[in-house]
Amino acid sequence: MTIKPLIILPDPLLRQVSTPIERVDAELLTLVDDMLETMYDAPGIGLAAVQIGTPRRLLVVDVAREGEDKSPQVFINPVILTSSEERSVYEEGCLSIPEYYAEVERPATVTIQHIGRDGKEHIVEADGLLATCLQHEIDHLNGVLFIDHISRLKREMVIKKFTKAAGKPKAV
Ligand SMILES: [Zn+2]
Repeated sequence: MTIKPLIILPDPLLRQVSTPIERVDAELLTLVDDMLETMYDAPGIGLAAVQIGTPRRLLVVDVAREGEDKSPQVFINPVILTSSEERSVYEEGCLSIPEYYAEVERPATVTIQHIGRDGKEHIVEADGLLATCLQHEIDHLNGVLFIDHISRLKREMVIKKFTKAAGKPKAV
């Protein structure tokens, strides 16, 4: 397993739509292991493959609390089947936007269809922190960031700050 460098805002790769995964093979499982290693090292509770420079539809999450056993979950080609009307608000952060946090409102419960690391199709119903985390990560697969869910003014401030820090001209 290898800890990979994280892709940081405003890297244009974060805006790319990830491509579906064709098969679960040894190469893919190595990528999964690298993602888990990178997520735990950061530390974070979720990571999409594009965040380590591989725009494929794959994400890993672990929402176990501190002191609890690790509980890694792998979602390949995840699709949100249903979203609840009920909403919940969590303060979100992102490994690609370090040290910035903001409250985001999302559906409280979602049903997600995906392929597991066993190569089989699964459907899970997620609520609480897991629901928010999965929606955040699935957004990454579509080139969407959590700052897209906050006010335009706040978003522009964050992008400006990170663009300045990266020493690059602002992308248009
Ligand atoms: Zn993120």
